[in-house]
Amino acid sequence: MTLKIITDPNPTLRKKADLIEHPLSAGIQALIPNLIKTMHNDKGIGIAAPQVGESIRLIVINIKDGPLVLINPKIVAKSIRKEVEEEGCLSVPGVFGMVKRYKKVKVAAVDQKGEKMTMAGEGLLARVLQHEIDHLNGILFTDKIIRKTTDKAHGEKVL
Ligand SMILES: [Zn+2]
Repeated sequence: MTLKIITDPNPTLRKKADLIEHPLSAGIQALIPNLIKTMHNDKGIGIAAPQVGESIRLIVINIKDGPLVLINPKIVAKSIRKEVEEEGCLSVPGVFGMVKRYKKVKVAAVDQKGEKMTMAGEGLLARVLQHEIDHLNGILFTDKIIRKTTDKAHGEKVL
Protein backbone atom coordinates (compact mmCIF):
# COMPACT_ATOMS: atom_id res chain seq x y z
CA MET A 1 0.00 0.00 0.00
CA THR A 2 1.36 3.42 -0.85
CA LEU A 3 0.86 6.16 1.67
CA LYS A 4 -0.14 9.76 1.28
CA ILE A 5 2.81 12.13 1.42
CA ILE A 6 2.18 15.22 3.47
CA THR A 7 3.47 18.47 2.10
CA ASP A 8 4.78 21.73 3.44
CA PRO A 9 3.22 23.48 5.33
CA ASN A 10 2.14 20.72 7.72
CA PRO A 11 2.99 20.81 11.45
CA THR A 12 4.14 17.15 11.46
CA LEU A 13 6.98 18.07 9.09
CA ARG A 14 8.21 20.59 11.66
CA LYS A 15 8.18 18.34 14.74
CA LYS A 16 11.14 16.56 16.27
CA ALA A 17 10.23 12.92 15.67
CA ASP A 18 10.09 10.38 18.52
CA LEU A 19 12.70 7.70 19.16
CA ILE A 20 11.56 4.17 18.30
CA GLU A 21 11.75 1.38 20.86
CA HIS A 22 12.38 -2.29 20.21
CA PRO A 23 10.75 -4.69 19.73
CA LEU A 24 8.92 -2.76 17.04
CA SER A 25 5.20 -2.29 17.46
CA ALA A 26 2.91 -4.01 14.95
CA GLY A 27 2.07 -0.59 13.59
CA ILE A 28 5.69 0.25 12.82
CA GLN A 29 6.32 -3.21 11.36
CA ALA A 30 3.40 -2.67 9.01
CA LEU A 31 4.51 0.86 8.17
CA ILE A 32 7.98 -0.12 6.91
CA PRO A 33 7.00 -1.99 3.70
CA ASN A 34 4.44 0.70 2.91
CA LEU A 35 7.03 3.41 3.36
CA ILE A 36 9.33 1.55 0.94
CA LYS A 37 6.52 1.22 -1.61
CA THR A 38 5.69 4.90 -1.29
CA MET A 39 9.33 5.85 -1.86
CA HIS A 40 9.52 3.69 -5.01
CA ASN A 41 6.15 4.86 -6.28
CA ASP A 42 7.16 8.50 -6.03
CA LYS A 43 10.64 7.80 -7.42
CA GLY A 44 12.25 9.06 -4.25
CA ILE A 45 15.75 8.01 -3.32
CA GLY A 46 14.95 8.32 0.34
CA ILE A 47 11.96 8.94 2.57
CA ALA A 48 11.44 9.70 6.24
CA ALA A 49 8.42 8.57 8.29
CA PRO A 50 7.29 12.15 9.10
CA GLN A 51 6.70 12.61 5.35
CA VAL A 52 3.77 10.20 5.63
CA GLY A 53 2.55 11.83 8.83
CA GLU A 54 4.30 9.48 11.31
CA SER A 55 6.45 11.47 13.69
CA ILE A 56 8.94 8.69 14.45
CA ARG A 57 12.67 8.30 13.80
CA LEU A 58 12.55 5.99 10.80
CA ILE A 59 14.04 6.56 7.36
CA VAL A 60 14.43 4.42 4.27
CA ILE A 61 17.05 5.03 1.64
CA ASN A 62 17.21 3.54 -1.77
CA ILE A 63 20.67 2.24 -2.49
CA LYS A 64 22.03 -0.06 -5.14
CA ASP A 65 21.41 -3.20 -3.12
CA GLY A 66 17.81 -2.26 -2.41
CA PRO A 67 15.99 -0.30 0.25
CA LEU A 68 17.81 0.15 3.54
CA VAL A 69 15.80 0.78 6.71
CA LEU A 70 17.46 2.91 9.38
CA ILE A 71 15.83 3.30 12.78
CA ASN A 72 16.89 6.10 15.15
CA PRO A 73 19.65 7.18 12.75
CA LYS A 74 22.20 9.67 13.99
CA ILE A 75 25.19 11.30 12.31
CA VAL A 76 28.24 10.29 14.32
CA ALA A 77 31.01 11.60 12.05
CA LYS A 78 31.20 14.02 9.17
CA SER A 79 33.80 15.32 6.78
CA ILE A 80 35.22 18.79 7.06
CA ARG A 81 34.50 19.32 3.39
CA LYS A 82 31.07 20.26 2.18
CA GLU A 83 29.66 20.37 -1.30
CA VAL A 84 26.76 22.12 -2.96
CA GLU A 85 24.32 20.14 -5.09
CA GLU A 86 20.72 20.36 -6.17
CA GLU A 87 17.96 18.79 -4.07
CA GLY A 88 14.23 18.35 -4.17
CA CYS A 89 11.81 16.85 -1.66
CA LEU A 90 8.65 14.77 -1.97
CA SER A 91 7.11 16.99 0.71
CA VAL A 92 7.93 20.24 -1.09
CA PRO A 93 6.70 19.52 -4.61
CA GLY A 94 7.98 21.64 -7.44
CA VAL A 95 10.78 23.30 -5.49
CA PHE A 96 14.43 22.57 -6.24
CA GLY A 97 17.51 24.29 -5.01
CA MET A 98 21.18 24.13 -4.24
CA VAL A 99 22.00 22.95 -0.72
CA LYS A 100 25.36 22.71 1.03
CA ARG A 101 25.93 19.37 2.80
CA TYR A 102 28.82 17.45 4.28
CA LYS A 103 30.57 15.47 1.57
CA LYS A 104 30.83 12.36 3.75
CA VAL A 105 28.93 11.26 6.84
CA LYS A 106 28.88 8.23 9.07
CA VAL A 107 25.53 7.29 10.53
CA ALA A 108 24.75 5.00 13.47
CA ALA A 109 21.31 3.41 13.60
CA VAL A 110 19.55 0.19 14.53
CA ASP A 111 17.89 -2.21 12.14
CA GLN A 112 14.41 -3.72 12.36
CA LYS A 113 15.59 -6.32 14.87
CA GLY A 114 17.24 -3.72 17.05
CA GLU A 115 20.78 -4.64 15.99
CA LYS A 116 23.19 -1.74 15.95
CA MET A 117 24.62 -0.76 12.59
CA THR A 118 26.72 1.99 11.12
CA MET A 119 27.03 3.11 7.56
CA ALA A 120 29.22 5.58 5.79
CA GLY A 121 28.07 7.54 2.80
CA GLU A 122 29.72 9.89 0.36
CA GLY A 123 28.33 12.22 -2.29
CA LEU A 124 24.68 11.56 -3.11
CA LEU A 125 24.31 8.90 -0.39
CA ALA A 126 25.72 11.28 2.24
CA ARG A 127 23.32 13.94 0.97
CA VAL A 128 20.30 11.63 1.20
CA LEU A 129 21.23 10.62 4.75
CA GLN A 130 21.56 14.24 5.85
CA HIS A 131 18.32 15.27 4.12
CA GLU A 132 16.31 12.41 5.68
CA ILE A 133 17.77 12.86 9.16
CA ASP A 134 16.88 16.55 8.90
CA HIS A 135 13.27 15.45 8.38
CA LEU A 136 13.40 13.70 11.77
CA ASN A 137 14.39 17.00 13.34
CA GLY A 138 11.70 19.08 11.67
CA ILE A 139 14.10 20.62 9.16
CA LEU A 140 13.23 20.95 5.48
CA PHE A 141 15.75 21.42 2.69
CA THR A 142 14.09 24.71 1.85
CA ASP A 143 15.51 26.02 5.17
CA LYS A 144 18.97 25.46 3.72
CA ILE A 145 18.60 26.44 0.08
CA ILE A 146 21.35 28.74 -1.07
CA ARG A 147 19.75 29.35 -4.45
CA LYS A 148 16.58 28.00 -6.03
CA THR A 149 16.97 26.23 -9.34
CA THR A 150 14.22 26.24 -11.87
CA ASP A 151 15.70 25.36 -15.22
CA LYS A 152 17.65 22.20 -14.58
CA ALA A 153 16.59 18.64 -15.20
CA HIS A 154 15.93 17.45 -11.66
CA GLY A 155 14.88 13.85 -12.17
CA GLU A 156 16.68 11.77 -9.60
CA LYS A 157 17.24 14.04 -6.67
CA VAL A 158 13.89 13.97 -4.95
CA LEU A 159 14.33 12.99 -1.34
ZN1 LIG B 1 12.55 15.40 1.85
